[in-house]
Amino acid sequence: MDKAAQATRPEGNSEMRSNGINRLCALCRNHGLKIPVKGHKRFCGYRLCLCKECCLVKERQRVVAMHLYFRRAQEQEEADRGASRDRSGEDVNGGE
Ligand SMILES: [Zn+2]
Ligand SMILES: [Zn+2]
Repeated sequence: MDKAAQATRPEGNSEMRSNGINRLCALCRNHGLKIPVKGHKRFCGYRLCLCKECCLVKERQRVVAMHLYFRRAQEQEEADRGASRDRSGEDVNGGE
């Protein structure tokens, strides 16, 4: 009998450690609160906070968002250009 393979189950501890998954709200953290950011963003009490730390966080988020936006727009543009390349010529006019 081999009892060596005792189920090594992970601790069923749902303690929120810094997994990277359960990220905490950066704004709340500025004020000493530890609140998971998931589903909280819209209700964050510091969403409109203008303190230095929150401004920094929001500034950074904006930069990241803008980068994402531009990259996506660029990809879209390239896709559009590729799609509308051989458009002229064939007229898909399937008459009767
Ligand atoms: Zn928050
Ligand atoms: Zn703040």
